[in-house]
Amino acid sequence: MSYLDSYEMVIGLEIHAELATRTKIFCSCKNEFGASPNSNTCPVCTGMPGALPITNKKVIELAIKAGLSFGCEISKYTVFERKNYFYPDLSKAYQISQLVKPLNIGGGVELDSGKFIRLNRIHVEEDAGKLTHLGKSQGTLIDYNRGGTPLIEMVTEPDFRSAEEVVEFLKKVREILMFEGIANCKMEQGGMRCDVNLSLRRKGDSNFGIRTEMKNLNSFRSVQRAIEYEAERQAEVLASGGDVVQETRKWDDFAGESFAMRSKEQAQDYRYFPDPDLLPILISDEEIEKVKSEMVEVPASRRKKYTEEFGIPKYDAELLTQTKYISDYFENCVSLLFVPKKISNWIMVDLFKIVKDQAQKEQNQEDIVFPISEKQLTNIIKMLEDRQINKNVGLELLQKVIETGKDANELAKEMNLLVTISEDTILNLLSKLKSENSKVVEDYKKDPEKISKFITGYVMKNTQGKANSLVVKNLIPKVFSKE
Ligand code: ADP
Ligand code: MG
Ligand code: ZN
Repeated sequence: MSYLDSYEMVIGLEIHAELATRTKIFCSCKNEFGASPNSNTCPVCTGMPGALPITNKKVIELAIKAGLSFGCEISKYTVFERKNYFYPDLSKAYQISQLVKPLNIGGGVELDSGKFIRLNRIHVEEDAGKLTHLGKSQGTLIDYNRGGTPLIEMVTEPDFRSAEEVVEFLKKVREILMFEGIANCKMEQGGMRCDVNLSLRRKGDSNFGIRTEMKNLNSFRSVQRAIEYEAERQAEVLASGGDVVQETRKWDDFAGESFAMRSKEQAQDYRYFPDPDLLPILISDEEIEKVKSEMVEVPASRRKKYTEEFGIPKYDAELLTQTKYISDYFENCVSLLFVPKKISNWIMVDLFKIVKDQAQKEQNQEDIVFPISEKQLTNIIKMLEDRQINKNVGLELLQKVIETGKDANELAKEMNLLVTISEDTILNLLSKLKSENSKVVEDYKKDPEKISKFITGYVMKNTQGKANSLVVKNLIPKVFSKE
């Protein structure tokens, strides 16, 4: 029996996602991960006195897109505010964020169970720089490249009641942000991270308990583990008659436990006020309509289409919607040649195998790009469908198209891979077999299905595999059903 049994978890999230813009939010420095330290910086994003910020229009567009994706109300009038605090990774001593007039209000996400998780808001803000602590008395390194990276912060209502609900929600949010091109959400690079607010209450109680906040979790697994650990910890405190202290805690993934960072009493007053350097932003209906028109079909609806209209298994549909690129590639193929399950097999087995090494090298599944166009892949599948080639030849062609970039049909002709045997030749071979092998004739009378395989094999062997197996299959009865 666990202490938790008599309590219910209450969880609310604050999710930060870095927007997929070319440049930063208030200057023209590049917004990229992995550049050499402090190379993507300027007076604005390093907070030099007197430097003036200018809002990147693309940031607002992507943030509106996020609002539309999650059913928020888009504010027609929105304001940036200064959140004042000092920390070495924030050289301005204030973060530009939004409090009173956030861009997106309300909205939410429906879980598979039908439960609706409400969003309180999605606001826009800038990221801070990155500190690297070198360990005992060796100092700390500061990299301001990340400073001024555009972020959206999604704040949920405290609607979650389990770690599973939280993880499902995060996965849904992440795939929508990725598909809509709002954020790349590379979690291991901090592109999407989340703060978990958690409290317990006795089962049946209607009031919320005192919560703690765990900052900057950046994998689904650590979210799950951090929640389980923290719920158990709070349950123990409560069950032994103690009170949970409202505090910020840091989850240590290696140790598998969290520890207190600072309590709410020490928390500072951020003295939010409208940033006098930035004008309020007015958003017109036309601008919202324009963003709407650029939105794409979301993964959940694509999966439904794949299983219901294309008749492919749920498993395939999951894999094919890992990224928008893969999903678009699949749909382009299907629109060229309507054999969805066959195309799915080629992508999931043969193409994935080819790009696996590539993906491992780039260590990012999200960056998968197939080395053959949709047109060329479906050319090969079409030849297979028409029985002009067999699967092995198809695979050989696939390699050749990738190597040479040539057209699959031309290569097949050039390499003499297409079946070329005439019906007459096949008929002659069948008659020869019939006259020479009485056993085959007997077997055909008993079970034509069964012996047909053997007969086809015989024709193939005597034509170096160049006969069309479908044609052979159709010709067999003509010869063998005759007395
Ligand atoms: P603050 O202004 O202190 O950050 P908010 O009201 O903005 O507080 O809430 C921050 C997050 O904490 C939200 O995601 C919210 O859903 C969550 N939250 C609020 N109260 C509780 C609670 N009692 N238990 C768990 N989560 C909570
Ligand atoms: Mg907060
Ligand atoms: Zn800059």
